Amino acid sequence: MTAPTTVPTLRSYVAGAWHSPDPAGARPLHDAVTGEEVARLSSAGVDFGAALSYGRGVGGPALRELTFHQRAGLLKALAGHLREHRDELYAVSARTGATLSDSKFDVDGGIGVLLAYASKGRRELPNDTVYVDGAVEPLGRGGTFVGQHVATPLHGVAVQVNAFNFPVWGPLEKLAPAFLAGVPSLVKPASPTAFLTSALVELIIDSGLLPEGSLQFVAGGVGDLFDHLTGQDLVSFTGSAATAATLRTHPTIVRESVRFNAEADSLNMSILGPDVAPGSPEFDLYVSGVVAEMTIKAGQKCTAIRRAFVPEQHVEAVVEAVSARLATTVVGAPDAEGVRMGALASLDQRGEVRRNIAALADAGRIVHGDPGKVDVVGADAERGAFLSPVLLTADPDRAEPHAVEAFGPVSTVMGYSSIPQVVELAARGNGSLAGSVVTADPAVAREIVLGVAPWHGRVLVLNERDAKESTGHGSPLPALVHGGPGRAGGGEEMGGIRGVLHHMQRTAVQADPDTLTAITGRWVRGSQRRETDVHPFRKHLEELRPGDTIVAGPRRVTQEDVEHFAEFTGDTFYAHMDAAAAAANPLFGERVAHGYLVVSLAAGLFVDPDPGPVLANFGVDDLRFLTPVRFGDELTVTLTCKQLTPRDTAGYGEVRWDADVTRQDGESVARYDVLTLVAKKETAS
Ligand code: NDP
Repeated sequence: MTAPTTVPTLRSYVAGAWHSPDPAGARPLHDAVTGEEVARLSSAGVDFGAALSYGRGVGGPALRELTFHQRAGLLKALAGHLREHRDELYAVSARTGATLSDSKFDVDGGIGVLLAYASKGRRELPNDTVYVDGAVEPLGRGGTFVGQHVATPLHGVAVQVNAFNFPVWGPLEKLAPAFLAGVPSLVKPASPTAFLTSALVELIIDSGLLPEGSLQFVAGGVGDLFDHLTGQDLVSFTGSAATAATLRTHPTIVRESVRFNAEADSLNMSILGPDVAPGSPEFDLYVSGVVAEMTIKAGQKCTAIRRAFVPEQHVEAVVEAVSARLATTVVGAPDAEGVRMGALASLDQRGEVRRNIAALADAGRIVHGDPGKVDVVGADAERGAFLSPVLLTADPDRAEPHAVEAFGPVSTVMGYSSIPQVVELAARGNGSLAGSVVTADPAVAREIVLGVAPWHGRVLVLNERDAKESTGHGSPLPALVHGGPGRAGGGEEMGGIRGVLHHMQRTAVQADPDTLTAITGRWVRGSQRRETDVHPFRKHLEELRPGDTIVAGPRRVTQEDVEHFAEFTGDTFYAHMDAAAAAANPLFGERVAHGYLVVSLAAGLFVDPDPGPVLANFGVDDLRFLTPVRFGDELTVTLTCKQLTPRDTAGYGEVRWDADVTRQDGESVARYDVLTLVAKKETAS
């Protein structure tokens, strides 16, 4: 049978071209609200081996030519492009059952991740193609043999298998760190909502913003894709624990040690603290949190609260308050007046959730909602995948509430009697993505957070103090780890730059300092310094080189200097001003100079005072005072250009300098990095 012409068959974008499958035999996808056929889905005819080769051969090299900052710039541009087109995405999103605020969660959330990674890339990564990880490790006594970890992008493809519930955010939160790392992506959406991810990918490819080969898209099954993976490829998976287990043990993944990151369903919990009583602001926050997690995206959130633990004496009050709020939640078509909760993603999914509610009800009691019946506004309750929010209670010692996940608007309230007991109950979920504790008592928060942390990827502590700015229990954030141990998949996504490094290989390089400087582009202590006639502060960004050095001094430090500094700044600490007290100090034995005086005198020595390319000093890093400076000591400073970070979009860049302040006997008294902004020559005239 041929599909009606009005129903598109989704195209894949592989090996540089759109692939249109034969509609015959393609799987129909349905509007979650009306039940109408929306699109057809098939990846028949896609050459998966060729797609991976294309990513490795075309996308990877194109990305690796760019610096982290250039990739960050493209992510920012992409975010701007998608923002301009977000209304189109909202319209398609409504057909997945999402209300407008659900769609914003998905679409704007995804754009937000792109922007967050664009910003982190520029602020936390160098304008280079190699990432220097951690400090130089001395490996020999003489300083001629040192080690340094570096990270470089894997030369494979990041295969990203997504879940149905966030068809825009899901692919974007996986794409952003892979792209920033310099690794091309191959996106596979979940079938039920693939038509929305398809709309997203069409927008991205049509924009022409991303280098060719850096994004490929497979609409439909993955065929023999996994057979072609190598140790340079990665797989990032979101979905059920069962599928994660199948894919993780695929023979090629095992044989090739393919990096496999899973984010699977989990039985997330929220604890009402023992200090919180009905009528308090925290009690209301708890109730609002449970209701929000049940109804946003109709509870189809991997982080949603499935287990609500409350002090035994407050179970009734919590059930009453949550039920009252759920009773006012209008369910229906996303575009109908007053609707607060839309449909599940598909009728199949509703069937699955109903089966799981039945299992939970066997172990407890439904106290709000009817899984078989719901009043629906603006749509047909049976043709659309609508479901009433369902609240249950259960004995916490039953196994089911800790094991059965109803992936919909469903939560179970359970009583507890002590903190050690609730910590133990939380752990029965066998590993979760997100947990929360609502308490105003920091001691309660510490006991619970440290107790549940080994089973959780993220924990929110909510109270009146942070509620206004809190992003809530269920929101994964680009700067924070998203993932969890055990049942939650054992993986980590995002987490800021951690997610970028996941796509890179960390290599320990052992070499002499000069070689290491050449490899990393970052001057390493012990490698050559270059003293020239021109003061380094008179050089523009383009003229500076790592290793450019100025040696200045000596400068004698006198008692008058120290007393002047003490009076002037008000820092009359006894070690500098009180001879008897200083003599009793086991570290000094006599009066010594202020560390800040040493740093200030060093600046006085190395600074070139006239107007020039150095625009500002924006801080110091890693300042350590190593040896006390006594009256009469003579200081010399050696300032060496360590790292240059040009800003593509600014008339200046950052220069990191190594500062080493030494005494007359050569001993270092202070070491630190000085951070300056230096103008580019091209913009100086
Ligand atoms: P699945 O695990 O079945 O699917 C997740 C993704 O894996 C989809 O893209 C799916 O594609 C793909 N997939 C499934 N089987 C294979 C395979 N053999 N090889 C390659 N890819 C495969 O989860 P569902 O989407 O069906 O949801 C089921 C349950 O998972 C939910 O009820 C919920 O409990 C949980 N879930 C968890 C989420 C989370 O974020 N942790 C999110 C969504 C669901 P396709 O759709 O084409 O089969």
